[in-house]
Amino acid sequence: MEKIKMTTPLVEMDGDEMTRVIWKMIKDILLTPYIDLNTEYYDLGLVHRNETNDQVTIDSANATKKYGVAVKCATITPNADRMKEYTLKEMWKSPNGTIRAILDGTVFRKPIIVKGIEPYVSTWKKPITIARHAYGDIYKNTELRVKAGAKAELVITNPDGTEERALIHDFKGDGIVQGVHNLDDSIKSFARACLNFALDQKEDIWFATKDTISKQYDHRFKDLFNEVYETEYKERFEAAGIEYFYTLIDDAVARVIRSDGGFIWACKNYDGDVMSDMVATAFGSLGMMTSVLVSPDGVYEYEAAHGTVTRHYYKYLKGETTSTNSIATLFAWTGALYKRGELDQNEALMTFAKKLEQAAVQTIEDGVMTGDLYRLSTLETKQTVDTETFLNEINVRLQALL
Ligand code: NAD
Repeated sequence: MEKIKMTTPLVEMDGDEMTRVIWKMIKDILLTPYIDLNTEYYDLGLVHRNETNDQVTIDSANATKKYGVAVKCATITPNADRMKEYTLKEMWKSPNGTIRAILDGTVFRKPIIVKGIEPYVSTWKKPITIARHAYGDIYKNTELRVKAGAKAELVITNPDGTEERALIHDFKGDGIVQGVHNLDDSIKSFARACLNFALDQKEDIWFATKDTISKQYDHRFKDLFNEVYETEYKERFEAAGIEYFYTLIDDAVARVIRSDGGFIWACKNYDGDVMSDMVATAFGSLGMMTSVLVSPDGVYEYEAAHGTVTRHYYKYLKGETTSTNSIATLFAWTGALYKRGELDQNEALMTFAKKLEQAAVQTIEDGVMTGDLYRLSTLETKQTVDTETFLNEINVRLQALL
């Protein structure tokens, strides 16, 4: 069989630990035998980020802007322990944070639903997609520890040199203070990305903030979202028979739990960070959650929602076999290849990506799965296989489909 050709390079961002191991296995077993993989490779593994003073992360984000589609492996976000483990020059920032800031995109996370893996929340019948605003708030904060007796103020220096001041707190004892910001344009882009995605998926969209407490900051999110909806989307939503719904974040959480799913939940940056892990876990496994960052100008970066699965990696280093779920990482590849195919009108690539997804789902529904899924699956006949065997089993079904 002749290999599928690619006209435009896909931006490939390699990563760390167990997901880096899986990354290579997916390419070797399921991709390069079938596709003349045309990628522009960036090594975002922590060793190379440290060597390049994190320039490689910035370069990879700019390449994504240039070509339009990227696929990213999970990466370590350094903390104090990682500083020692990797003898880092600096505590480099989260690559995902850096990439999101450059692309000013919105992250959509959607669970992969398979027969036999039932959500913990019994009312959930359809996937819930979480849209996370990917700019600002605490992820671009400035924070300080404050000594007793200090006064903290918010100071704005206007372009004409005038100042506005607001007291944050007169500190009687030691404490902490934090400054966060967001941008009208980014919030409006976020609203557009979410409302476009809702139209594309033909699903209702919910948005929530804490505007009753945060009367300027969160209220601005509410107002801008509403303004974009009313002026640009309302008619199209009515024609499509879908709804935009705003409520307070605490009310939203209660309603989500009672819902049957099948909608998009737009969240501010931190809410999206936390709620996407809750929703992923409730749908079964982090290993079954896909993630795509979409920028307002239509640039796509696909990845798994989970991290580098450190615990499995240490087992792997000791020569032990692991049973790591590679589905989300595989769907990052298929999502990116499909989108690349769509943009280049490459039918063969699009068909291949869909068949590979089909083969992966079929493998699990046939009862062949990784340990995390085995513990959850309600199938009567099932078996746990190791990471590599799982990918080989997908390949058997892929060959049958091709
Ligand atoms: P993690 O997602 O790697 O693991 C969380 C838990 O889920 C662990 O118990 C793990 O065993 C399990 N798990 C996750 N994915 C799995 C899979 N595919 N198969 C089987 N089990 C799976 O998150 P963590 O342990 O908090 O972080 C590990 C590293 O990953 C950290 O260095 C962190 O900075 C990084 N991280 C990266 C990203 C990213 O690049 N998008 C996201 C989160 C965490």
